[in-house]
Amino acid sequence: MGRLQKILIPFLGLVLAFWFYSARDTFKPEMLRGKRVIVTGASTGIGEQMAYHLARMGSHILITARTEAKLQNVVQRCLELGAASARFVSGTMEDTAFAQHVVREAQTSLGGLDMLILNHVGASYFGFFDGDVEHVRKLLEINFLSYVAMTTAALPMLKESEGSIVVVSSMAGKVGFPFTVPYSATKFALDGFFSSLRQEFTIQSINVSITLCILGFIDTERAVRAAAEVLRERPAPRDECALEILKGAALRRRELYYRYSSTRLPLLLRDCAAELLDYLVRSRYRLPAPPGA
Ligand code: NAP
Repeated sequence: MGRLQKILIPFLGLVLAFWFYSARDTFKPEMLRGKRVIVTGASTGIGEQMAYHLARMGSHILITARTEAKLQNVVQRCLELGAASARFVSGTMEDTAFAQHVVREAQTSLGGLDMLILNHVGASYFGFFDGDVEHVRKLLEINFLSYVAMTTAALPMLKESEGSIVVVSSMAGKVGFPFTVPYSATKFALDGFFSSLRQEFTIQSINVSITLCILGFIDTERAVRAAAEVLRERPAPRDECALEILKGAALRRRELYYRYSSTRLPLLLRDCAAELLDYLVRSRYRLPAPPGA
């Protein structure tokens, strides 16, 4: 009986804590009505879907990516769906000056900013690390440094609105993944930068939330093209993923896991059984037989 109590009481405590934290707030679409939001990488994929959800919720949307024709179509669709306003700026995030220019555009056209959603990702390869250091540098500029530059430029406006920063990352930014070495490195860098920055915000009582989004395999064209043949799991839908990101952001969550079962649960193993987790990650891939096997 004593032993049962020793197990049961902490277990009940854990269940109650989980219930308390998961039920403390509920998302309502009105939370994003009239909010001024930047979404990067919104010409396609998850970013495009976030723009459409924000439009339905009545936000002011500023989107960016490189392909102007696609951005024009997304803006048009956002207006049809009910966005309070929708506009785009096209350019490449390889250029820090462009990242800063997008934020200035929010200042001039929206008069401020409530939410900065950092989502764009540069093209990389899927395969063994090929030793190309220049590629790693370029990817760091697109996937990491531009996120830092936009955050720095947007901070005065976000402090004023007590707004939010949303950083779209990946399971590959929490645990080592094979075949995406440069990409994983950039995503780990985001965790380091934004988790440290969150600590400093707390120390300085800066009321700007930072939500780090840890995503599993999502059915965007790029991801499916790159990995569907080799990954054993089915990708999750991008429109649902986009909505979950926005819910987490509106509720000012610290981290968001989607899908929970393929991200948060495996990560519980990281500290107590890291090698088992590595093995589980490798077992997701259909690997070629080793030479001579
Ligand atoms: P995606 O469909 O490939 O879209 C990437 C977006 O980034 C596009 O709008 C693209 O537009 C833009 N972009 C690419 N290079 C750029 C550059 N140099 N400068 C400015 N914009 C650029 O990607 P996604 O699958 O939706 O991924 C969105 C986010 O989720 C990324 O941060 C990714 O790491 C993360 N994620 C995705 C998955 C997944 O399975 N899909 C899994 C984990 C994490 P242009 O080409 O027009 O510039």
